[in-house]
Amino acid sequence: MAQNIDWSNLGFGYIKTDKRYVSTYKDGAWDAGTLTGDDMISMSECACVLQYAQTCFEGLKAYRTEDGRIVCFRPDLNASRLADSASYLEMPVFPQDRFVEAVRQVVAANADFVPPYGSGATLYLRPFMFGINPVIGVKPASEFQFRIFCTPVGPYFKGGAKPITIRVSDFDRAAPHGTGHIKAGLNYAMSLHAIVDAHNQGYAENMYLDPATRTYVEETGGANFIFITKDGTLVTPKSSSILPSITRRSLMVVAEKYLGMKVEERPVKLSELKDFAECGLCGTAAVISPVGKVVDHGTDICFPSGMEKMGPWTQKLYDTLTGIQMGRIEAPEGWIVEI
Ligand SMILES: *Cc1c(COP(=O)(O)O)cnc(C)c1O
Repeated sequence: MAQNIDWSNLGFGYIKTDKRYVSTYKDGAWDAGTLTGDDMISMSECACVLQYAQTCFEGLKAYRTEDGRIVCFRPDLNASRLADSASYLEMPVFPQDRFVEAVRQVVAANADFVPPYGSGATLYLRPFMFGINPVIGVKPASEFQFRIFCTPVGPYFKGGAKPITIRVSDFDRAAPHGTGHIKAGLNYAMSLHAIVDAHNQGYAENMYLDPATRTYVEETGGANFIFITKDGTLVTPKSSSILPSITRRSLMVVAEKYLGMKVEERPVKLSELKDFAECGLCGTAAVISPVGKVVDHGTDICFPSGMEKMGPWTQKLYDTLTGIQMGRIEAPEGWIVEI
């Protein structure tokens, strides 16, 4: 490991690494793409991304396995989700096979920044694209950049995953026929006020409800929900305005195929929460953050798993999925891409 990084004390902040990937779309085509050492981007003050937020992104990690290999987890799903996001934002799709190849190149070029096995730290990759040419009348850009940079990040939970308390939000994340199902920067811009307000009130996250009826659970600003019933069924909310988390979709397979659980993806009423045994938030950053309590306008909904540790089913799901990612447990076909 060439870098002088204290892996076990890393946070979730940006650290500049050696190389990033850049490809430019111009005159109707993507160029060949290249790795560069230059982390700065120069653009017009009137670039479409700056004026009209024409940008979308992805997030995935590279891990070092026990036997020293470097692997990525299901990058093909990030490629297809970015393609969906780009299409919906009137941006050209970056070819999905080239996406996976660019992930490989970036990880390989920054291999010294992949934290050692057992440190809990990982190399986080951030693919993104944006409209770069000047646009003042409202319309899509005609020139774009696709980029992937990476930064090492520390263990999400230092000293074990403590269950968090979240609140039912009065703010909305995504309109019924809006952009909730794509990973657009604009979804995060409008969540910033809601999350700062939640933190000021002492909550770790916002539980967003469906804006049309405010009776169904959607997701948080950056993670999907899973619930476990008292008889061990995994239930996850279904809605066309939820971002399809790759972690959540993988956990559904792990639950069914590895743990023999029943799995249901269906609308989940807020009024049902009190009946569940366990609750978790899932996403690439933390895999699963256990939720101990949801506060709904002064009413506490406490899950029987409590505030000390993850519930037993959540722990099994967490251990199995991280075991697959770290190479300790055999993965389903195609889930692990070795660099
Ligand atoms: C990225 C994201 C997630 C988590 O998706 P993963 O693919 O599991 O990382 C969940 N919700 C939202 C809104 C997101 O942007």
